[in-house]
Amino acid sequence: MKMSRESLSNDSSQRSMNRRRFLGRSVLVGTSAIGTAAVGPGVMQTSSAQAADSPLTEHRIDRVEFRTVSVPWPRQVGRNSSKGIHGRGPAELRVCVLHTDQGASGWGQTQGKTGKPQDLLEAVQGKNVAELIDPATGIRSEAYHAIDIPLHDLAGVILDQPVWAMTGVAEPFLTKVYSGMIYFDDLDPADDPAGIEQVLKNCRWDYDYGYRQFKVKIGRGNQWMSPQAGLQRDIDAVNAIHQSFPDVGILVDGNNGFTVETMIQFLEGIPDVPLFWIEEPFHETLADWTKLKDYLFAHGRTETLRADGEAKPDLPVLQKLQKTQTLDVRLEDICGHGFTKWRRQMPGLVRQGVGASPHTWGSALKTAYTAHLIGAYGNAPTIEGVTTQGGDVGFGENKIVNAQYRPSSAPGFGLALPTQDE
Ligand SMILES: [Mg+2]
Repeated sequence: MKMSRESLSNDSSQRSMNRRRFLGRSVLVGTSAIGTAAVGPGVMQTSSAQAADSPLTEHRIDRVEFRTVSVPWPRQVGRNSSKGIHGRGPAELRVCVLHTDQGASGWGQTQGKTGKPQDLLEAVQGKNVAELIDPATGIRSEAYHAIDIPLHDLAGVILDQPVWAMTGVAEPFLTKVYSGMIYFDDLDPADDPAGIEQVLKNCRWDYDYGYRQFKVKIGRGNQWMSPQAGLQRDIDAVNAIHQSFPDVGILVDGNNGFTVETMIQFLEGIPDVPLFWIEEPFHETLADWTKLKDYLFAHGRTETLRADGEAKPDLPVLQKLQKTQTLDVRLEDICGHGFTKWRRQMPGLVRQGVGASPHTWGSALKTAYTAHLIGAYGNAPTIEGVTTQGGDVGFGENKIVNAQYRPSSAPGFGLALPTQDE
């Protein structure tokens, strides 16, 4: 698996200034940060000396606030093999803002049940920020799982450091990014289906936006069309996309709508289309993935990545599959699974030669969080891009540049909340 780590030499002087500030700051927290970033999963605490030296000790959270932000998609997104029309994206996404007694704040999407702001405040009250998060490894207790993202943002703001730099890297690891927004838009509107032309139109929009990889949803025969007609439409759609965009890498995602046999039939229908990866053709089993891998290798598709772990992951099965390289990319959600859990898992995945590409679907914020995670660790063949247009969050330097999603070098995640009358 090739990962690129590119020079950022063409960045602005503002960025150089930020980096100088980070390098200066890293004298304070960086030595142990670099030292602990490489250790394996399960290491949660660093020395108290480090915590005592950190500017994070000077801040205590004194207010917790929930707000909503809008991160809509640029178009309606239709069906996939398992769900109906997905709509137009998050219009009122709940986010959490943490404020400290020194006037710093950090924000982000929450994970799992958060309860009321007061409940969250009680969990963190009286503790300084260094007791809640270690920049080198993440949150210090699973009790803070719900605010993993806002705590990372807050720590970055206080340290004047982007989240990707918390492992001690001087420049972010960069990788490819794919549009995750190519659904069954040929099937709608139901009374006058637009056909494959609509799918190609969506691909064109995403291409012009800067993507050079598309993830194409397949599995129309699972419930929306007859099995045979659905399979044929999947084949026709993927062939048409490849013919129209020969320089674009194609990923396919079955959302568990196939059997190993129907997946092989699909592959026989697209002999001239190189596939970058195959995602969730069926719910993971040892027998099915092994059979599919054997088929791929027997038919010259040794470069096609095999990705799973998104929907109801069967962790013991996934572990076994990755040990034998039957699976080579893990996909758990960046927020649902947890930003810190991903951080802890990364060294082990690197050792096994298994890539990471956390699920981000639904929220463009999650794409930015993932770009920071990958910026810190690398080890991702590509990042899932969720595009937003017309919302109220400032994405700043978090954006696609030369077909890669580059994480911002501003403090924290570099994402700006809409201004609000207080
Ligand atoms: Mg998926």
